[in-house]
Amino acid sequence: MAKLHVELVTAEGRVLSQEADFVVAPGSAGELGVLPHHIPLLTTLRPGEVMVRNEGVEEYLFVSGGFLEVLPDRVVILADAAERADEIDLARAEAARRAAEEALSARASDAEAAAKLERALYRLRVAEVRRRRRSHEQHL
Ligand code: ATP
Repeated sequence: MAKLHVELVTAEGRVLSQEADFVVAPGSAGELGVLPHHIPLLTTLRPGEVMVRNEGVEEYLFVSGGFLEVLPDRVVILADAAERADEIDLARAEAARRAAEEALSARASDAEAAAKLERALYRLRVAEVRRRRRSHEQHL
């Protein structure tokens, strides 16, 4: 069966490089699902979750935003920041959420704090979903 080669890189280095059957990413215009032979496209990403599925195994990651390029046999994600779900530091994301909420309660129009809050909430969500899936698997 046809495969995609997925590369996810940040300025700090390569976060993921693997074969995949299906990739889902948070495109700015909406969630984007990519199968092999997808039409080529280039889009910006908003903060959210990236899912990479290969042979039934799913990997979940947080991306803070960036660019996504799709070619028929390849997906390239250039992210501002990215972490695998199990690498997300929950205490750090929780502290970032609290700090952003405090900044927003002082000044509701603080766009930087709003963006920080959005990143923190997605980090918490990606990490939380990952933990729930793992405990579900342990109970099977
Ligand atoms: P933010 O503004 O999104 O709260 P930050 O300012 O603390 O993040 P960045 O400068 O965006 O941090 O990123 C620095 C590095 O820290 C990046 O490699 C990013 O992937 C990582 N990082 C940020 N938050 C977390 C987290 N909660 N868990 C794990 N890694 C994180």
